[in-house]
Amino acid sequence: MKIRADDNVMVIKGRDRGKQGQVTRTFPKSGKALVEGVNTVVRHTKPTGNMRQAGIIQKEMPVPASNLMLICTHCNKPIRVKLRVLADGSKARVCSRDECGEVIE
Ligand SMILES: [Zn+2]
Repeated sequence: MKIRADDNVMVIKGRDRGKQGQVTRTFPKSGKALVEGVNTVVRHTKPTGNMRQAGIIQKEMPVPASNLMLICTHCNKPIRVKLRVLADGSKARVCSRDECGEVIE
């Protein structure tokens, strides 16, 4: 997975195409990510014994990471992520735009 929690991403496919949001959680096993305000479903819940919150609740559902593009923290554009192996063997994510090419934290 090239997308991590706290990343800013843009949705490139599906109902929420064009929306931007912050990743709140990732699910590496299923290759999905939860993005703030993206892919929301409305849940109608009735008050029951152990559910205190009743009424209409907006809930986000995980989005396949392939539907998301990372927004570069340097050039602010949606980009494809390149991986670069650093001298110490760790991998860094790098912006794919030639004009930018910065490491993304
Ligand atoms: Zn960039």
